Amino acid sequence: MTTIIFSSNGNKADTAVSPPPPFGPSTQAVHGEVARRVWQPHHSLTTPITQTATYTFKDTADLCAFMEAKMWGGSEERGEYGRYGNPTVRSVEKRIAALEGGGDALLFPTGMTAVTHTLLSILPTGSHIVMTDDCYRKTRQFCHTFLARLGIETSPVPMGDYAALAAAIRPETRVILSESPTNPYLRVADLERLAAIARQHKRVKTIIDSTFATPVNQRPLTFGIDLVIHSGTKYLSGHNDVMAGVVVGEAGLLHALRQSQGMLGGVADPHAAWLVERGLKTLALRVRQQNGSAQAVAEFLEAQPRVARVWYPGLPSHPDHAVARRQMSGFGGVVSFEIAPIPGENPADTTSRFIDAMTIPYIAPSLGGVESLIEQPAYMSFYELSPEERLTIGIKDNLVRFAIGIEDTADIVADLAQALEVIG
Ligand SMILES: *Cc1c(COP(=O)(O)O)cnc(C)c1O
Repeated sequence: MTTIIFSSNGNKADTAVSPPPPFGPSTQAVHGEVARRVWQPHHSLTTPITQTATYTFKDTADLCAFMEAKMWGGSEERGEYGRYGNPTVRSVEKRIAALEGGGDALLFPTGMTAVTHTLLSILPTGSHIVMTDDCYRKTRQFCHTFLARLGIETSPVPMGDYAALAAAIRPETRVILSESPTNPYLRVADLERLAAIARQHKRVKTIIDSTFATPVNQRPLTFGIDLVIHSGTKYLSGHNDVMAGVVVGEAGLLHALRQSQGMLGGVADPHAAWLVERGLKTLALRVRQQNGSAQAVAEFLEAQPRVARVWYPGLPSHPDHAVARRQMSGFGGVVSFEIAPIPGENPADTTSRFIDAMTIPYIAPSLGGVESLIEQPAYMSFYELSPEERLTIGIKDNLVRFAIGIEDTADIVADLAQALEVIG
């Protein structure tokens, strides 16, 4: 198995420089690790898309020198084969690692590859996962089907019940997996507490899917979490135009995951990586705008008689408001809310009429892009279930998930106001 570690200039190591100043997230996202010190081929300002499946050797001596260095595990400044590394991909990985405060990061073609690859790589047969109960639906399904087939059991525990979480840990537990904030109720895990519970057991790793937060609002590694996962399809790329996933953590653990990526083969395409890098440069700007709009939207909705309940961690009414205030610097761009029932009408229908009356957001799954997206989870993600089945997993038919884009806050609020008028 080969690991190619490209330097950030894609073909030669940076000369020794003094350590970079502690940059803020925008500076870091725009410039990578070191501003103005990265030399790109052809003096290109942006990272070139290195569209190659393989890398060539000058002669046999060149090849043998490379193989010799590889045997000794030395850091490589060049590529061998596309599945073992690509400089465009590497550039994005370094930027995301820096933003999360991690030793390294690994890019994947989708968020789900990041999740499945990480779990498959870490978990031995017969091991066990403790998972908070409102994890991304496909993550839960992966654990309960594929991992179950490998004899890996998953115990769901209620989000926010730390006694249940501690009690669910067995001698064979290797992973505690949670999202924070969660979908669609934006529940926030107390990351310090979660990490402390895991640390009482020598071999339990903590994994947080931090997609809804982004490194701008929350940095789980700083609270002692072992691995952070993102669907890069959402805020990191931010334009609803590319799919990606990423895992961030300490360098040794990431090295092992990189080794298995060369075998499992879920590698990101350099074009997709380039789009993620371009998106990353405006991540902090977009997220700050989305945080601001979501807070305004949540406060507006909470004051509306046609809205029965609003779920947003930035509101004091949210069950995890105190935790969110402690560990997040912003509360994110997704607001979920329940439309108040109208006498004589099925609440699901009232909710659909509200969604259809909105003019700015598109009806679509996903979140985190520049365009606002809206959905009724009962129909978007849980259509095949009966209303009763949906209720047992906490999905009400009058629930709306609103993923706010970067449109002007006033326009979004005005659109909500007119749509609430329409339902009468
Ligand atoms: C979208 C999403 C995923 C899956 O990511 P893809 O890029 O769609 O594969 C995983 N977790 C969360 C929280 C998500 O929102």
